[in-house]
Amino acid sequence: MSKKNNGYGLLIDYEYCTGCHTCEIACAQEYKWPAGMGGIRVIESIQELPNNKAYLTYIPFPTELCILCAGRTQKGEKPACVQNCMAACMEYGPVEELAGKITKPRMVLWVPR
Ligand code: SF4
Ligand code: SF4
Repeated sequence: MSKKNNGYGLLIDYEYCTGCHTCEIACAQEYKWPAGMGGIRVIESIQELPNNKAYLTYIPFPTELCILCAGRTQKGEKPACVQNCMAACMEYGPVEELAGKITKPRMVLWVPR
């Protein structure tokens, strides 16, 4: 594990992600990212099903630009994306602790390089 993440990561539970993009906006506002850039992206997945139905899934996915809000977390604050997600899809914490919370499908543990 590199020193950059300091043993911390994000646990993402996208089961209840609504695709509202608030996490993207929170990150962009925190770091003044120009349009099209940011520490997190919300991915939309559409799976076509029989009978003209479709299964829609949203997945918040950190990018290479995510620094895990080092400045905020050093002050004891939550990362901006975590703080502003109304669906509580993300949790910040020590990787080993977060790994123990993976108890169901649709959960992803993300650790920056
Ligand atoms: S992770 Fe949260 S803030 Fe981001 S799109 Fe999903 S529900 Fe919205
Ligand atoms: S942890 Fe901070 S830098 Fe990373 S995506 Fe969330 S708001 Fe952006």
